[in-house]
Amino acid sequence: MEEFYTIQGEGFHTGTAAYFIRIGGCDVGCHWCDVKESWNAELHPPTSIAHIVTNAKKYADTVVVTGGEPLTWDMTALTNQLKAQQLKVHIETSGAYPLTGSWDWICLSPKKNKLPKQTVYDNADELKVIIYNKHDFIFAEEQAEKVTKNAILFLQPEWSKKEEMTPLIVDYVMKNPRWRVSLQTHKYLNIP
Ligand code: SF4
Repeated sequence: MEEFYTIQGEGFHTGTAAYFIRIGGCDVGCHWCDVKESWNAELHPPTSIAHIVTNAKKYADTVVVTGGEPLTWDMTALTNQLKAQQLKVHIETSGAYPLTGSWDWICLSPKKNKLPKQTVYDNADELKVIIYNKHDFIFAEEQAEKVTKNAILFLQPEWSKKEEMTPLIVDYVMKNPRWRVSLQTHKYLNIP
């Protein structure tokens, strides 16, 4: 769908430069999704992997594959060719489809309406739960039970609810310090 060089705004790698590859196609249907234009893959004609890899190499040593939902598609060919160029390859996924591809970092952001596949829970390096309402704290704890003990746990306010939810997250993390706060810092910085 698009490629761009920017700063990772969320989660464990916040603040680090990375080349983002946004894959078209997602049927998870989050009502607060901020990239609804990604949903219909038909609107985003295929781009050759060679073209993407050539671009990525020019900018960064880390690539973040995001969407849409990248695991809608088999990620094997793309990740193999990125890694063949010694790029570190990260994914941002809802985990709604089986894990394909070879990843240096898996950020799992589960969604209630299409829960992750077990292989994604098993391999997640980071669990990032979006907090839209108070019930999402319960959902976050349920999801934390499904990842390994090595996964780093984040709570992130949904952008339109950040005034309401951020203080609740701060309070929650202080009471439950195995969680960390994640903010969409790229939106505060007004960068992609
Ligand atoms: S999984 Fe991601 S891209 Fe898909 S609807 Fe939800 S927020 Fe949007």
